[in-house]
Amino acid sequence: TLGARALDKTVDSVCPFCGVGCQLSYQVKDNKIVSVQGRDGPANHSRLCVKGRYGFDYIHHPHRLTQPLVRRSDVAKDVNVLRDPADWAQVFRPASWDEALALAAGGLKALRDAHGPKALAGFGSAKGSNEEAYLFQKLVRTGFGSNNVDHCTRLCHASSVAALLEGVGSGAVSNQVSDVDQAELVLVMGSNTTANHPVAASWMKNAVQRGLRLVTADPRSTDLSRHAWRNLQFKADTDVALINAMIYTVFDEDLVNHDFIAARVDNVQAVRDGVASFSPEAMAPLCGIAAATIREVARAYAKAKSAMIFWGMGVSQHTHGTDNVRALIALCMVCGQIGKPGSGLHPLRGQNNVQGASDAGLIPMMFPNYQRVDKSEVHAWFEAFWGTPLDATPGYTVVEIMHKALAPDSDPHKVHGMLIMGENPAMSDPDLNHARHALASLKHLVVQDIFMTETAWAADVVLPASAWPEKTGTVSNTDRMVQLGRQAVEPPGDARADLWIIQQLAQRMGLNWHYTGADHGVAEVYEEMRQTMAAAIGGISWQRLQIGSVTYPCVSAQDAGQPMVFTQRFPTPNGRAQLVPTTLIAAHEQPDADYPLVLITGRQLEHWHTGSMTRRASVLDALEPTATASLNTRELSRLGLTTGAQVSLRSRRGAVQVTLRQDDGMPDGAVFLPFAYREAAANLLTNPVLDPVGKIPEFKYCAVRLEVM
Ligand code: SF4
Repeated sequence: TLGARALDKTVDSVCPFCGVGCQLSYQVKDNKIVSVQGRDGPANHSRLCVKGRYGFDYIHHPHRLTQPLVRRSDVAKDVNVLRDPADWAQVFRPASWDEALALAAGGLKALRDAHGPKALAGFGSAKGSNEEAYLFQKLVRTGFGSNNVDHCTRLCHASSVAALLEGVGSGAVSNQVSDVDQAELVLVMGSNTTANHPVAASWMKNAVQRGLRLVTADPRSTDLSRHAWRNLQFKADTDVALINAMIYTVFDEDLVNHDFIAARVDNVQAVRDGVASFSPEAMAPLCGIAAATIREVARAYAKAKSAMIFWGMGVSQHTHGTDNVRALIALCMVCGQIGKPGSGLHPLRGQNNVQGASDAGLIPMMFPNYQRVDKSEVHAWFEAFWGTPLDATPGYTVVEIMHKALAPDSDPHKVHGMLIMGENPAMSDPDLNHARHALASLKHLVVQDIFMTETAWAADVVLPASAWPEKTGTVSNTDRMVQLGRQAVEPPGDARADLWIIQQLAQRMGLNWHYTGADHGVAEVYEEMRQTMAAAIGGISWQRLQIGSVTYPCVSAQDAGQPMVFTQRFPTPNGRAQLVPTTLIAAHEQPDADYPLVLITGRQLEHWHTGSMTRRASVLDALEPTATASLNTRELSRLGLTTGAQVSLRSRRGAVQVTLRQDDGMPDGAVFLPFAYREAAANLLTNPVLDPVGKIPEFKYCAVRLEVM
């Protein structure tokens, strides 16, 4: 380690990976980050996981894009995403920024003028700053002319946000992770927290040592389950059956919080009627959890003085993801476990800024701060504020946009051109063969990124952008904390800040934007965004963020921020929670004789999402260099296989070759595959069917078979 005197500088920032939002410092020498230290931030108190501490040298990787690239006129588009990124010259030629920006914006403008505004779409990024997200959605809405703008929130918690907005009027968490210290019981459902929110998991484990009753509920037993008072390893796809059986118990044993319901909750009778056939005794065989255990956990949750529910994508990524969350909300409300310290609802947000990007309006049905585009007074306000006519109909979502790219020419809403900033749908979308064909079929694709991602191979123009430590901006973590990241190093070569690139494209599409000041006007963009989100961040000025993180809602300079919300009322039209009954909906594709195993996809501790960053981080890549599929010992011996065997996993949509790994946390009849590995892309196998409300794909359940190679 370099001593402090050997460093050029130490720069305070925030971790670029998960939504926990750990504060850290970059230690810099010769424009290179040489090490990372945790800072005493409110979410991490100096703790970092392996990604935050060691996953930084991706920014110095030789694969970094350092100059604008334009597709060679003699190279047709194809779906080959496995070229070596160093071989970009086989497909692209270098260009000046002027030429690349003119081609990028000119192509988009020509398609808009020829086919209308809905011919274009934009994917922004939950990896960028709030200011980038705000400006990106403004570019799509005011420059492209439609609401066809979305980002990867659609693939992680769209169903959670839909259910929360409907039920409690807000898509964000009610209480922060640190509330585990004040909870008597915590239920963690569908979350491998140790892998995906490691520092949050460490607070949960500490709380267990102090006496917290931890209940984990997931088809897969994980590291966190080892610390649980009760581990409900329920059968995959039976979430609603399990939660409704708990709600049934609450009614059956009169554990209901009658005062809370009378004061604050609507539609309770509908839920009571809805769970009438969900007794624990009836549901036990379906869920694989003993009726007595379901009753015991429901009793403990209802009787606890304070109880939190955390959930992850094991809950949200189903065709019944919205129903799963509706059921969790109903359980919480009938027990009155919200609106007080250590009691509430917390969807663990995945990316470092997925909360903030959604807040900033990077979603097709909402302007900033979840104001509906089809609500006339909201629409009129934004038209006046941005000084331009706006589309009043919700746009298409991530997967819908891919479908629209492959629509027949006769479809008036066919998508012909796209701008993609920092997202990698050629790895992250379900049914990748379909998504990759859709990307390759676009008449014009502009990709703004730091690496030649799998998506970028289909581009007409590639714009080299900045990594997180190379720019200044804010991000909002899973706890609703707005935090500032500061530029630590210069981007390599001719790579530029994303905020600059968005403004350059806007200018060339005819928008008259003038953001001035340091770092491409980031403070001015933030202050404009603040005006559109007054009810959330109205009290958080740019100056205030220089001092430290502030939790929203924060509506005035005197407001300290509200770590806990819903203490008196819910932000619904009548101030009361609106419960929605749920019923059983089976996963779209069930195992059968041809495809007998259930595939569960997800992340692992060392790698982040599509792997473009962490697989180029030397320590993380050394720890987990290979795509492995996990099965339990019983499944391995039934198949006559052992750890290390090379196999092919095949679904009705594609196949990948992987190495087998033994994981006795896996349930019988299921296989887990992380989606970070380009050479064995899990999403070649996944099913693109969507939850009808949240429009989230069913990443957590499809049928596969295993073939020995
Ligand atoms: Fe980064 Fe999340 Fe790890 Fe914290 S827990 S260091 S935010 S990846």
